[in-house]
Amino acid sequence: MELEAKKLEISGIVQGVGFRPFVYQLAIQCGVNGEVLNTASGVTILVEGDKKGIETFCSCVEKQSPPLARITHIDVQAATVTGVSGFSIVPSRGDARRTTLISPDVSVCDDCVEELLNPADRRHRYPFINCTNCGPRYTIIDDIPYDRPATSMKHFEMCVPCRSEYDDPMNRRFHAQPNACAVCGPAVTLFDNRRRLVTDPDPIEKTAALLKKGHIVAIKGLGGYHLAVDATNDGAVELLRRRKGREEKPFAVMSRDLDAVRRYACIGSGEEVLLLSRRRPIVLLKKRSATTGLADAVSPDNAYFGVMLPYTPLHYLLMEHPFAALVMTSGNISEEPICIDNSDAFERLEEIADFFLIHNRDIYLRSDDSIVRRSAGAERFIRRSRGYVPEPVFLKRKQPSVLACGGELKNTVCLTQTDRAFMSQHIGDLENLETYRFLELTVRHLCRILDFRPEIIACDLHPDYLSTRYAEAQTGMELVRIQHHHAHIVSCLAENRADGPVIGLAFDGTGYGSDGTVWGGEVLVTEVDHFDRVGHLSCVAMPGSAAAIKEPWRMAVSYLYEAFGDGVADLDLPVTAAVAPEKIRTAVQMIKGGINSPRTSSLGRLFDGVAAIVGLRTHVHYEGQAAMALETATGELNGNGYEFGWETVEGTCRIPVKSIIRGVVKDVRKGKSVEWIGARFHDTLIRLFTELCQQIRRDTGLKRVALSGGSFQNDLLLTGLIRELEGRLFTVFTHQKVPANDGGLSLGQAVAAAAMAKR
Ligand code: ZN
Ligand code: ZN
Ligand code: FE
Repeated sequence: MELEAKKLEISGIVQGVGFRPFVYQLAIQCGVNGEVLNTASGVTILVEGDKKGIETFCSCVEKQSPPLARITHIDVQAATVTGVSGFSIVPSRGDARRTTLISPDVSVCDDCVEELLNPADRRHRYPFINCTNCGPRYTIIDDIPYDRPATSMKHFEMCVPCRSEYDDPMNRRFHAQPNACAVCGPAVTLFDNRRRLVTDPDPIEKTAALLKKGHIVAIKGLGGYHLAVDATNDGAVELLRRRKGREEKPFAVMSRDLDAVRRYACIGSGEEVLLLSRRRPIVLLKKRSATTGLADAVSPDNAYFGVMLPYTPLHYLLMEHPFAALVMTSGNISEEPICIDNSDAFERLEEIADFFLIHNRDIYLRSDDSIVRRSAGAERFIRRSRGYVPEPVFLKRKQPSVLACGGELKNTVCLTQTDRAFMSQHIGDLENLETYRFLELTVRHLCRILDFRPEIIACDLHPDYLSTRYAEAQTGMELVRIQHHHAHIVSCLAENRADGPVIGLAFDGTGYGSDGTVWGGEVLVTEVDHFDRVGHLSCVAMPGSAAAIKEPWRMAVSYLYEAFGDGVADLDLPVTAAVAPEKIRTAVQMIKGGINSPRTSSLGRLFDGVAAIVGLRTHVHYEGQAAMALETATGELNGNGYEFGWETVEGTCRIPVKSIIRGVVKDVRKGKSVEWIGARFHDTLIRLFTELCQQIRRDTGLKRVALSGGSFQNDLLLTGLIRELEGRLFTVFTHQKVPANDGGLSLGQAVAAAAMAKR
């Protein structure tokens, strides 16, 4: 019989996902001999046998690959027949260039859950059960190739039964690097907040009992600590808010299964898929209209709950107890990074938590829970982190290596390598040293596990962002500064694998403009390497600067001044009734004198201002809260907008907001409901920007529109604009792989910087 030999080089997510045992079993099925090994660029397979066996092997290797594997490329070449007998898995080789992909952390699989709950299994109730199809990955890796000594499992030596599973290619735990059991692996322990051990035969049972009693427990998870309380206990949830210094921003909750979730939230079919996915994100779900049974303080004045299902064995054990839901919020002090280290957790959380359920498997890299929602018929990220990172976004073409440092709020960084863009996990708001350090750590860690040496470093135009300062401090790389809204639109293009030019609608709260003013309601004709600002909302003052963001009444005064001039305080409106007249007069003086009142064209601020004018909020506790309140209060859109128009000054369309504000005020005076006014306001924006895009199409011939920026987290605006633009035969690009908000900025920076450096 004629023998043939082939060499297969496979790249993608093929390590730590049970790929080699799969190859081994497939080879035996196909009756071929040879070997398989992990390399730093993926997996290499040598096979030899008869023609038919080789053919079957090559066609099945991609089609039947294990659930967590993601093959991006297979290279098949003829090889020399050596007469090898049998098939073997040979040790990893770490010499080649490191381009292999690392799997994100994934939720515990069904097989493992079954063993976890089976009294006859040797891992019954063992909270770190895992296999090659599930468990921690990114958060425990220190280096590649992904082998046990390069993970935080290196401190645990496997017992004989674990070792034999690990060595057996036919076993589900073959080379499962975090493989462990109660005899040899990590363990949980419970402490009180004075660091005294709470002795109990079952610390998880004990924790559940403490939660039932209303205590706050810090629980070490996969990507960091959570702070947990019983979500039905009003007192406990309010206490957690007070201690954490988090006034109104919603808390995420966890329930044991879909049925439990359905009691307090509505789940659509797309949302069900998201909740159950191995990535286990927090999914935003509409509250049920009836009383939900959960404490009001979980998600006050908000139409949504952020909900997730258990994703670690420990969660499953906790959820054995009949909690309707547990609050599971990041274990941090207001805006600092989430705690991962045990002693650090004790130090930072002792004033918040009553008890600590900790364990001794280190987390090398923190990764917050991801947050997604269904909007305009697709999955949209609010935060892309645990479960998704470090899976790359694949770009349209290869580009030089760029490190992009992101923006200021919701910071992420992005590293590009050939045609892959690696977005980091959520780093947070770069407003304190801890978060800055986390940025440094994340860059170092990503550079190590990706073997990455950037040629270009990209940052925002804003001179004072800590991410800009970080970029400026690096040496040996070309520094490229990218305008904020340009980066937003390029981010949207990049994830859609599209090129410019497009009409970009970049709507958000704040971004440093090329002219030094604050932008945020921008219409940009965008190429990857440059943009023209062809339109924007007319600029208004932000009296008090940053204070105007926290106090939307200030923006209301500014818009009212714009529309009505002096005498704002005399207007009879909910906002003028709620704010002391002298405060309003001072704000008007600041606007008139240009004192501490930067100018902005931001759409986010316009939302804030309108929300304040109609009486929804004069103050906010977190970014976007007033805009969200307006969206929530808005009723059915009916195409009945306010008057609008624009004027062209030196080739740029300036869109005055006066007429819109006058329309809103007129309706308020007529006693129209917020539901009605909100609908007209949204309708106005949708119609206005659709018509503006039509005019730009007439002027330039551009037929494609990209939507980006935090304002597109507004479902009404996103859905409405897609509908109207597509109805007029525009091609519309939106975000589905990275957040539309500043969490997606680094991707756009990286791609724009590569193009600009080339130029
Ligand atoms: Zn498993
Ligand atoms: Zn063991
Ligand atoms: Fe932005």
